[in-house]
Amino acid sequence: MNCDDVRILLHGHLDGELGVLLDLEIEQHLEECPKCAREFATLRAMRTRLRDETFRFEAPPELKEKIRRALPDAPPRANGYASRRRGFVPRAIQFAIPLAIGAMLALFIAPRALRPNENDILAREVVASHVRSMMSSHLMDVASTDQHTVKPWFNGKLDFSPPVTDFAKDGFPLVGGRLDYIDDRPVAALVYQHGKHVINVFMWPSAHTATSAERIQPEQGYNVEQLMVAGMNCWVVSDLNQTELKAFTELIRAHG
Ligand SMILES: [Zn+2]
Repeated sequence: MNCDDVRILLHGHLDGELGVLLDLEIEQHLEECPKCAREFATLRAMRTRLRDETFRFEAPPELKEKIRRALPDAPPRANGYASRRRGFVPRAIQFAIPLAIGAMLALFIAPRALRPNENDILAREVVASHVRSMMSSHLMDVASTDQHTVKPWFNGKLDFSPPVTDFAKDGFPLVGGRLDYIDDRPVAALVYQHGKHVINVFMWPSAHTATSAERIQPEQGYNVEQLMVAGMNCWVVSDLNQTELKAFTELIRAHG
């Protein structure tokens, strides 16, 4: 890069518009060429001076008047104002609308899209708990296929009494239960089996009394069903296929 090339690019370099590679080439030239370096220093000093507030001054009233008189007669004020407004407003709107939409998107939609909803967080929690229970030897605190043994076991361990039903005749035998911790509270975990598959049912009281069911997006390869029944928040997790897990969830719902 010779001096002529560098001179052309000095302004862009000063304003940081050139990109890293060109900037580096110019910096290198400025280090070796005192003439260009001086010119660059002058440019930089001028820019600094122009940005200095104290460098500005008000034109005296006489000068303003002189300039005004030198200008051709302005059209009648009302018209001139209106025509300028007509030109100005649409242009302002052209800029304002995309800006406003952008701001609204940034304020309302983006945080919602980015923030995982409550169910996503709970789904992650119950799947993590299911996986932990399968990995450790802590699948059950009380191993029993008898609902009349499992239900009383929770007494005194939780501040609610989870409904415990054995669905053995429907192919989903109850095998036990344990205490778990979901959504910042102790919950009941009932363990069922279907073939070789283990199903964890997490239960805790809900503030809602309405009955509802929701299929949750599979999480880490596990199927998750959520239902609200008889004032209980109920999360069902298993590696069982979605259809059979849904059938199991229907059994729970039917029993209320
Ligand atoms: Zn030079």
